[in-house]
Amino acid sequence: MRRKRGGTVRIIPLSEGMELQLKKPHPCGGDRFRLLRVGSLCRVVCEKCGRDMEMDRVKLEKAIKSTSAPQAEK
Ligand SMILES: [Zn+2]
Repeated sequence: MRRKRGGTVRIIPLSEGMELQLKKPHPCGGDRFRLLRVGSLCRVVCEKCGRDMEMDRVKLEKAIKSTSAPQAEK
């Protein structure tokens, strides 16, 4: 049962290990983050400088530009 309350709600399936590209780059200049933990509070780590941060899931979903499946090796 799903009700729409005006506006579009886009649900992004998030899974641990996923790579995220965010609209706002990190102060270090990197815009790619690895998702470490998924919950109401998500933990992501910047792939460029390695700093991790916690973000509210709702805020994180709004900040996501694109996602890509986890990559084992590059
Ligand atoms: Zn960074």
